[in-house]
Order: sequence, then structure tokens, then C-alpha cells
Amino acid sequence: MSEFPQQTPGTSTRKADQSEAREQLVDWLRDAHAAEEQSEKMLTKFAGRIENYPELKDQILRHVQETRGQARRLRQCLERYGDSTSTLKDTFGKMMAFAQGMSGAFVDDEIIKGSMAAYTFEHMEIASYRILIAAAEAVGDTETRNVCEQILEEEIAMATWLEDNLSEITNRYMARVDVPGITAKH
Ligand code: MG
Ligand code: FE
Repeated sequence: MSEFPQQTPGTSTRKADQSEAREQLVDWLRDAHAAEEQSEKMLTKFAGRIENYPELKDQILRHVQETRGQARRLRQCLERYGDSTSTLKDTFGKMMAFAQGMSGAFVDDEIIKGSMAAYTFEHMEIASYRILIAAAEAVGDTETRNVCEQILEEEIAMATWLEDNLSEITNRYMARVDVPGITAKH
């Protein structure tokens, strides 16, 4: 990040560390922002295909709204560092591709694979915001820490909802799958 001044000889190592730490924080914020934008697309697509699981559909659409707000709040954090770019980093990109693959719109059990992907994704987000909270704390960025704490609560709520409902969704799927003339897959 070019806006951070280069260290000159004689300055303390603590300061050098701080500046690198801040770059790391900004990097992770960028990852999180890219993930939220991707998540919004993924969840919208998934919800749009659901016909027979209205509670899941509603819950996902609620979380899509939250996700938009999360992306906006992360953008504000990035803007305070003079950074508005959002590029999907390699590792995160691979995880996203994994989650997207699991959402499998073309498999027979897409409602199950999609729910599983959503559950996996929320837990990835939970890990990522716990890391961001600690990182923001470490560089003394209280605003970013607060934002990430709010977002973490929303991710935990979504993960908890899925945790509480995965069995029910599966039961519904299993009950429908052998009935001729009705759809179980979405
Ligand atoms: Mg999120
Ligand atoms: Fe989420």
C-alpha cells in the first residue's frame, strides 16, 4: 500500500510493525468485502430457486439485506484507509468457489447442498470477523472493531438459524423426495 510512508533508518521497529499490521488489516477487510459481495449474489441466486421451503427462502432473503449492509459498512472502513478497491484474493476466491460448487443448482438435492454451502459459508464468515476484530483491536482501530463486532453478531444469528433448521429442511426433503408429481429439490 503506497500511501503508508516507507520506514527511514532510525525509526522504531514498533512503528514499522504497526504500519505492516495496518496493511494486513486493510487486506483482510478487502477480502471480507469481496466475500460479502459474492455472498449477496450467491444467496440471491439460491433464494430465487427455492419454491417449497418458504422459511429458508425468507431467512436467506433477510440475510441478503443484512449482507448488503455489511458490504456497505466494510466499504466505509476501507474508505477511511483511502482504499476503495475490492479484489477477490486467491485463497478466499478458492473457498468461495468451493462454496459455490456446493450450492449446486444442477444437482437433485440442491436444497440440501445449498443449505450446506450456506452453513459452511456463515462459519467461514464467523472465523473471518473474529480475526478482523482481533486485528482491528491490535492496531487500535476502534471503529472497524465495532463494525466487525456488529457483523459477527449477524453472521452468528444466520449460522444459528441454519443450525436450528437443517434437520427440518432435510426432513421436508426426505418426505417429498419419493412423492410422485411434487418437487423436493428446491
Ligand atoms: Mg456476511
Ligand atoms: Fe453471512
